[in-house]
Amino acid sequence: MKKTIITCIALCAIFLACNNEEDATATPTDLFSTVEFEKIRLRTAQHFDDKLNSKLENDPEFARKYAENEEFVKVYSKVQEEKEKSGKRNLPIYTIKVVVNNIYRSQPLPMELIEGQIERLNQAFRGRLSGPSGLPSNARRFNAGDTRIRFELDKVKFRRNQRRFKNNTDLYARSTGGINPTLPGRRINIYVADLIVASGFEIGFVGDAGFPDEGDPEFDHVFIDALAFGVRPGSGKLNEGKTLAHEIGHYFNLLHLPGKTTETCRFDDAVGDTPNSTRFYFGDVSTGRSTTSCGSQDMYWNFMNNTDDSEQFMFTNGQRNRMRATLDPKRGSRRRLTNAR
Ligand SMILES: [Zn+2]
Repeated sequence: MKKTIITCIALCAIFLACNNEEDATATPTDLFSTVEFEKIRLRTAQHFDDKLNSKLENDPEFARKYAENEEFVKVYSKVQEEKEKSGKRNLPIYTIKVVVNNIYRSQPLPMELIEGQIERLNQAFRGRLSGPSGLPSNARRFNAGDTRIRFELDKVKFRRNQRRFKNNTDLYARSTGGINPTLPGRRINIYVADLIVASGFEIGFVGDAGFPDEGDPEFDHVFIDALAFGVRPGSGKLNEGKTLAHEIGHYFNLLHLPGKTTETCRFDDAVGDTPNSTRFYFGDVSTGRSTTSCGSQDMYWNFMNNTDDSEQFMFTNGQRNRMRATLDPKRGSRRRLTNAR
């Protein structure tokens, strides 16, 4: 009986959400407790890993650039670690300009929501968020705090289009119903649209991002489903604006903590201070589940995991070095962002 009631609540929530097109800011929080929601988070994480693995396997030019970049990141990180040890680190602030492209069906995103999301992004990258209570004692030891990367909202573009998009890549060009990117390579073009609820949970990702050196402008974007965009009152699942921090982490060359595969401890995310892991974490982890793998405590509170927004709050020092290497004005694979005017 209880199961029937829960199913009814979930179906009603989907029905209401699908019929609530007039209010683009409504967050159907009840949906977050459905099985579908957990599936979408898993689908999102696997999509990114599959995309990267397939590109590495099938595109030798990309694989060559990727390996070359990894060498640079290693050298860069080593230099930063040495500077840190000798107390000589003085990191310049990198200011990155972003453009928000909102393709909407009924109501555009309110400006306050967009501005609030950019502010949350800055809080995330400047180390201004506190973590949940009850974290393992070593949680704060690896916290990068301020990455010295900040974001500035350059422009917001809107386009009304009532069609049901089949995939997020169609959003990236006017000819396929979306919006052409502004100054590609010199701005982060963030695309926000509702695919998940509009498709009845059948398609869509919570977020998606290109990664450096893909060589294909089609992938030089960050996508966030409207469900996960902005800071709103709610359950702490997806409403605290942390998905964008995760996706921009990818855009700046961060992998998920288990690396390119969850199958073995041998591969990881190529970051020295994140422990090897074979597991993704979804949902609320503070409920007594086991949080170790490969013989160590997993960092489920890291932005590059997939836990609820309320449980994510930090990047590590190693992740900061990796992102800053990507933005390095001389050698970084995304240096055009840092040098942009
Ligand atoms: Zn991801």
